[in-house]
Parts: sequence; C-alpha cells; structure tokens
Amino acid sequence: MNYELFPAEPFRIKAVETVRMNTREERTELIKEAGYNTFLLNSDDVYIDLLTDSGTNAMSDKQWAGMMIGDEAYAGSRNFFHLKETVEEIFGFKYIVPTHQGRGAENILSQIAIKPGQYVPGNMYFTTTRYHQERNGGNFVDIICDEAHDASLDIPFKGNIDLNKLQKLIDEKGAENIAYVCLAVTVNLAGGQPVSMQNMREVRELTNKYGIKVFYDATRCVENAYFIKEQEAGFENTSIQDIVHEMFSYADGCTMSGKKDCIVNIGGFLCMNDEQLYNDAKELVVVYEGMPSYGGMAGRDMEAMAIGLKEAMQFEYIEHRVKQVRYLGERLLEAGIPIIEPIGGHAVFLDARRFCPHLTQEQFPAQSLAATLYLYSGVRSMERGIVSAGRDKVTGKNHAPKLETVRLTIPRRVYTYRHMDYVANAVIHLYEEREKIKGLKFVYEPKQLRFFTARFEEI
Ligand SMILES: *Cc1c(COP(=O)(O)O)cnc(C)c1O
Repeated sequence: MNYELFPAEPFRIKAVETVRMNTREERTELIKEAGYNTFLLNSDDVYIDLLTDSGTNAMSDKQWAGMMIGDEAYAGSRNFFHLKETVEEIFGFKYIVPTHQGRGAENILSQIAIKPGQYVPGNMYFTTTRYHQERNGGNFVDIICDEAHDASLDIPFKGNIDLNKLQKLIDEKGAENIAYVCLAVTVNLAGGQPVSMQNMREVRELTNKYGIKVFYDATRCVENAYFIKEQEAGFENTSIQDIVHEMFSYADGCTMSGKKDCIVNIGGFLCMNDEQLYNDAKELVVVYEGMPSYGGMAGRDMEAMAIGLKEAMQFEYIEHRVKQVRYLGERLLEAGIPIIEPIGGHAVFLDARRFCPHLTQEQFPAQSLAATLYLYSGVRSMERGIVSAGRDKVTGKNHAPKLETVRLTIPRRVYTYRHMDYVANAVIHLYEEREKIKGLKFVYEPKQLRFFTARFEEI
C-alpha cells in the first residue's frame, strides 16, 4: 500500500479522553451479558467505538468557544441568525427550520409535503426517513440504480438514481401522485455511496418537466461533494463549498441530520425555498420541536453547528475524513478481507456472507461477526443484515436482504490512523480464525426495530 496517499491528521490534539482497554476474559463475560448484541454494551467497556458516526464527532476549539457565546433567549437568539446565514450561504436555500435532529426535520417535511396515497421515490431507503414518509400515508419506492445492491461491484457513484425507474413511476402513477423525490447524498445503507452531479442535474431536468419537487437528505452531503471533486470530470479545481452549492441548486429543499456532516453532537434542520411550505413547517415546528428560532436546539448548539458547517467545507478536513475511512478499507482489502466496494464515505462494511461461509443467513452471521470482533479486540461495530431487516408483517418470515454486513463506522476527527491499524489487525486476526465464529439464535426478539435490543445465545 502507498502510505503517501493518506494525509496525516489535519489537526493537533488539545484535549484527550482516556479509554480503558479490558481483557479478553472480561469481554467474554461482557458480550454474553449483552446477549451478543453490541448495542447493549456499555460505552465504558468499549476500546474503539465504531458503532456509528452519528453525534460521535469531536468538536474543534472554535466550536467549543462558540458554545460559550450561546444566546439562550427563548425567541430570536443571535445564534439562530448565525446558523441561518451560514446555511443560506452554503446551501442557498431561503428558509431554514431548526430541529432537534434529522428525524425531526423528516417528521415535519413528511407531514407538509405528502398527501395520503402519494408515492415518494428515493435512492434506497433510510430507516427514520421511510418511517415518517409511510406514517404520513406515503408509499416509498426504491429507484436507486441496480448496481447499488451488488456488494462487490467496484464502480463510482453507486448512489445514483436510475432515471428510467423514475420515468416509469411517473408514467404509471402520474406526476400528481408523486409527493416529491427524496435524494440522499450519500446513501447510507448502500455503504456510503455517493451521487454524481450529472445525476443530480438529470433528476432536476426530469422532475422540472413534470413540476415534481426534489428534497435532498443532506446528512452526508460534504462527503458526497468530496467524491465529486475526486472522481467526476470537471470538478478537480472546484472548491468543496462551490460543489455543495451547485448540488443543492438542483433541490427544492433538504432535511439535515447535524449529527453527521455538521460535525456536532446534536441538531438538525429543514430547508426550503417555497414560502407556503415554510409557513406550514413553522406551524408544525412549534408543536414538535420548539420556536422557529431554536427548534429543539440550545443557542450554543446552533452556534457550534454554524461553525462546524464552515469547518466541514475545508478541503483538508474532508479529504482526511474520507481517506481515513479508505485507509481502513484498503488495509482490509490488502489482507483479502471481503468488504463492500468501492469504500464509502463514512464506514467500511464487512461482507459477512463471504466472511462466514460456514454459517447460513438464518444463523445471523453478521450479528455474530460483530459480537466476536468485540470479544477479540474491544472494537464495537454494528450488524446491518437480516437482524436489522426484521420480519415481514404479513408472512412473519425474516426479510433476507442481499447485503449481510457488519458496519465499521468512523466518527469524525476522533480516532487516528494508529487506531485504524488496530482495527484492521483485529479484523485480520479474526479472519484467520473465522471458522470459530458461531451461529446465534434469538432468546429475546422485540417486535419493532429488533436490532436495538434483541438478545441472542450461541447455537
Ligand atoms: C442519521 C440519519 C438520518 C436521521 O437523522 P437523526 O439525526 O439520527 O435523526 C437520516 N438520514 C440519514 C441518511 C442518516 O444517516
């Protein structure tokens, strides 16, 4: 591997948080007590926590300084105006409604923009996004390109919308029965795969013909912008901020989970250009979140978010972010470990089907792989496979998704390359002893979103 391809951390460390390394004997007991579910481990018992990149970001000295100038007035906080100006400048939308996190924005958008029975096409679903769409009477339709479902197909922009699928849906259902197109940049469940600028332009052209609105899930838009700069012709010399600005010029609005690309621990927002929609959103935000000038966030949180968004536009930050994830993936590929390719923006996904060929999908290979990785190393990861997919409401059978994966999600600015080496070595060691990974069976299975709290034992 060419180590020069990977830039060193573009920051120096000013405050540290000590983590404890426990023994394998202790972890044997701890994972058993947690029912072989990494969600049920205590954070204090984890050495390197790759459960999620959501809200786990490290803030900068400037963001922490911003916390001190929080204006906690109930209405008209100065930090709201700072956030509003920043969002306007970066994304170009006229109106912003702050929310406590991304799903708060999804809740409001789904209520004001979906009429019961309408269709909501999107590039693969996300759990909370789809939940709110369906709860408001929408029918989600997956219009991502077929390539997104193939874990080992290494092509760029696997998050793209298949325009033929969108055209077919419009022809079959009628434009008036489509609430809006929901376009996620990047696509989390496809492995953090980006969408090309070309695809965004084409989606805009097609929807303009029929007067259909397009709302982006902006959650990881900065990672998406980096992939465009790196891999799409014509953007080599364009700044991240200009790429982000162009991306959102093809949208009517967006929902944002600040816990990801705004580099903060909590917060979110909803944006739009349409004044009527904005008025509708303001009526709901007071019911679910708070005044339209704080929407569930403290003044200090809005300040940290405004500063974090600006920092996310810095090339050195986002280059390091994406390449650190890639470094971990490349080290695993070099050792012959099966992962989803190409390596996405926020996580490396182990392909548990190929990692554990001795287990059937009904023996929960990804669940067991995540539990065993913790046992070996103290590294916490997450199952994204048959357990997460749940059961069919009608037949009661397990959904059996094509992708049976373990997600190693990298928090922003928290870990160093040396931590990535530790994780890679642990996975490689486990791969050498992979036949020791045992099948699991449920001892407790919750009815809803079972992956969060289910318990298992070894077969
Ligand atoms: C996390 C996430 C959300 C939901 O945001 P929360 O802040 O967790 O409510 C929506 N979409 C995507 C793609 C996400 O990753």
